[in-house]
Amino acid sequence: MLHPVSSEVYFTFNNGNKVPAFGLGTAAPHQKLAETKQAVKAAVKAGYRHIDTAWAYGVEEYVGEALQELFEEGVVKREDLHVTTKVWHTMWSDANKSLNESLHRLKLDYVDLLLQHWPLCTQKIPDPHGVDNIAKEPVDDQGKPLYDENGDWIETYKQIERIYLDPEDTRVRAIGVSNYPIEYLMRVLKECRTVPACNQVELHPRLPQRELREFCNEHKIIVTAYSPLGGNGAPLLDLPILKELSEKYDASPNDILTSFHIRQGTIVIPRSLNPTRIASNLEFVPLSAEDVRRLNEYGETNKKRFINGPVSSIIPGFREDFLMEQHS
Ligand code: NDP
Repeated sequence: MLHPVSSEVYFTFNNGNKVPAFGLGTAAPHQKLAETKQAVKAAVKAGYRHIDTAWAYGVEEYVGEALQELFEEGVVKREDLHVTTKVWHTMWSDANKSLNESLHRLKLDYVDLLLQHWPLCTQKIPDPHGVDNIAKEPVDDQGKPLYDENGDWIETYKQIERIYLDPEDTRVRAIGVSNYPIEYLMRVLKECRTVPACNQVELHPRLPQRELREFCNEHKIIVTAYSPLGGNGAPLLDLPILKELSEKYDASPNDILTSFHIRQGTIVIPRSLNPTRIASNLEFVPLSAEDVRRLNEYGETNKKRFINGPVSSIIPGFREDFLMEQHS
């Protein structure tokens, strides 16, 4: 083989920890949450060593069951796996509780990376369809977001940082953020002692986020690309430029989309519940620098953010994109 498969590529966080560049996303649709267990088992058996999950996905117990069985079957050892989980914005002032609940469900003693999921503080509103009976995206009857007016979004990162810096506390190996724009990262760099190891953001040829990536690179913050296929139904697989590159490299559009990130030093975490796809989504395509540049340029004129809504639209970048979508 002339080049590795994607699951064999590793990057290094700013604290020296190694992280697999390719992982399995687990934000499964609500009606399919339990299928996450077989997806995680299929992924690890196919060679994945990185699982991305979150309290808010409602799947941690299925990830935990899968991991326990994989450990018992001797397929993988805990120390050879990277597991990320996240603190949701309704839990903004409860990072410690959120982490404990996640660890309990994951049946793990530690996570390799704990992220603040969103730089937002929202209210805890009862909802039988939410996670732990709490609405994930709290809004009032008119659809107006219910932010917690006492909250400051940096507080969650400060709580996560306290856990990480406590020498007696072994529950997290690295910490980071998600959905942070540059101006928010600048505040963290000023007010906190720990540079986030990672900023997990939506990233793909229709949202290349060049300035954010450059800023993160300069400050040794690894970027993780979420929704690399465009989310549910993988709409990005139909991009015309991918058809051309698929033919040129004799590779699937899916593998082009994921290799595009790894080639740029970005972690990528595609999701699938389909074991056949999971096993076949692993080829690393050695894209030329020119083709990487073309894929990045595509989004300059064809920009689209797939993950946005009323609650996140308060964040710079999301706000402008949200307003643009509303008026288009
Ligand atoms: P993705 O962009 O990974 O796309 C998932 C969709 O692609 C599914 O419908 C899946 O269907 C389909 N798919 C996967 N492989 C193929 C293939 N080879 N051919 C055709 N279709 C395919 O979506 P996500 O939004 O889930 O993003 C990935 C992960 O990123 C999440 O699962 C989560 O872990 C993380 N994330 C983080 C966020 C954050 O705020 N930090 C926000 C959003 C996501 P099927 O299951 O049928 O294969």
